[in-house]
Amino acid sequence: MAHNEAVDVVLVGAGIMSATLAVLLKELDPSLKLEVVELMDSGAAESSNPWNNAGTGHAGLCELNYTPQAADGSIDIKKAVHINTQFEVSKEFWSYLAKKGTFGSSKSFITPVPHLSYVQGEAGVAFLKHRFEAMHKHHAFAAMEYTEDKAKLAEWMPLMMPGRPADEPIAATRVMQGTDVNFGALTNQLLKHLSSTPDAQVKYCKRVTGLSRKGQGWSVSIKDVNTGNTREVDAKFVFLGAGGAALPLLQMSGIEESKGFGGFPVSGQWLRCDNPEVVKRHQAKVYSQAAVGSPPMSVPHLDTRVVDGKTSLLFGPYAGFTTKFLKHGSFLDLPLSVRAANIGPMLAVARDNMDLTKYLVSEVMQSMEQRLASLRRFYPEAKAEDWRLEVAGQRVQIIKKDPKKGGVLQFGTELVSAKDGSLAALLGASPGASVTVSIMLDLIERCFADKARNEWAAKLNEIFPAREKALETDAQLYQRINAQNNESLELVEKSSETKSFA
Ligand SMILES: Cc1cc2nc3c(=O)[nH]c(=O)nc-3n(C[C@H](O)[C@H](O)[C@H](O)COP(=O)(O)OP(=O)(O)OC[C@H]3O[C@@H](n4cnc5c(N)ncnc54)[C@H](O)[C@@H]3O)c2cc1C
Repeated sequence: MAHNEAVDVVLVGAGIMSATLAVLLKELDPSLKLEVVELMDSGAAESSNPWNNAGTGHAGLCELNYTPQAADGSIDIKKAVHINTQFEVSKEFWSYLAKKGTFGSSKSFITPVPHLSYVQGEAGVAFLKHRFEAMHKHHAFAAMEYTEDKAKLAEWMPLMMPGRPADEPIAATRVMQGTDVNFGALTNQLLKHLSSTPDAQVKYCKRVTGLSRKGQGWSVSIKDVNTGNTREVDAKFVFLGAGGAALPLLQMSGIEESKGFGGFPVSGQWLRCDNPEVVKRHQAKVYSQAAVGSPPMSVPHLDTRVVDGKTSLLFGPYAGFTTKFLKHGSFLDLPLSVRAANIGPMLAVARDNMDLTKYLVSEVMQSMEQRLASLRRFYPEAKAEDWRLEVAGQRVQIIKKDPKKGGVLQFGTELVSAKDGSLAALLGASPGASVTVSIMLDLIERCFADKARNEWAAKLNEIFPAREKALETDAQLYQRINAQNNESLELVEKSSETKSFA
């Protein structure tokens, strides 16, 4: 048998997930030999690219779908609280790296941008008021403000108020502590930092084409996309951080835990505006309610985006149906993912989600005029010439077995790992990049359980002085950690010119 190269860890894909896990593992054990393998010629070329996602630092401050209303009218804020504390854990990791000095500035990837929720109509206003009353009592949302006052709304969202009927019922909440995150810049900063450490390599234009069991670990086939040459690398642990393409790789691994999973790809588009006269009148991420019957990923929002020092506006997303698992993928991705073990769940999802499929097809068929009509619900005076259409990243939603229905569609993310902890894959899309650090900590606790409890425990406590559960319940701890993170990430005011949370 040919003598293969050997490393401790192979990470497939150079998006935010692999970049985060690789840097975290090297912090915990600097002696690890590790290789990141990326198909494209740079990092963050798929969903983690800043124009392929909305760049919202999801912290439950504005997303109305995180606070569902029960039949009795009560509002459940648990999911919003959990995502908020997960984002705080991400900030702890970035703060730790920023303090090291060798990582680079956090200003290149995180910018303070207020988060607003906005509703129209009497029912919408009643919901938002009720939601505000439930939320602002929790320490994570203590700074939330509510208003129905038109003059105040004009101050909060000056672009969105002119051109509305004077008697239109409308309300908003605002939290100044929101952020816009350039996940592409963050990914590339993490990869650069990783490459500067011994025994860590990031290899571009290389595709993982095969995975097979070898001893306690795996043999990984890696093909050079330019020369066509293939090399075999042995790894004790493999992470499938291939975004939408993680599913076919997971299937290739053949692990028992992969059986029954399928993928439902959803494409997306945005309207983007770079006109400085328009851009300067909107400094916020404003989220509203999804149309009745539409899926959670179609919640409309009008966002300030800060990418490579330039500010733009993004509106959308407009969802669509495709059979590709990656933006740069193949139309055969979906048909080739059908297996004997997942055809049942996939057919069940197709049967039970006809409305969703119809909705996605109707979204794809929209004209520019129809897209502008949706934008004008937010910004009544929007002019067509200021906006252009951009293609967003792919989201491959998870299809999984369900004992009652046969199969269900899941809109969150799911970490699938081999029983022996030698391989893990991340499936799904949302809330995604913002909670990467929590997901990777979960992976470490599952796949490196013994080390996490023993030799890595002290370092984990140093990097993460507080985890999600404690932050959810301990107000004083939350306030201290939040203040420390905001200071390390330069999110608080340093001078009168700097825009900030303060
Ligand atoms: C429209 C949209 C809006 C979103 N908005 C937000 C938001 O506002 N906030 C937020 O937090 N999250 C958001 N997300 C989610 C977020 O973008 C993703 O969760 C995150 O970027 C996923 O990162 P990843 O590293 O798993 O995948 P990716 O960034 O997609 O990276 C996967 C990489 O794997 C590579 N790859 C694939 N197959 C192979 C192979 N066989 N060999 C080698 N390399 C391979 C790909 O080329 C790619 O570079 C959004 C996503 C979308 C699509």
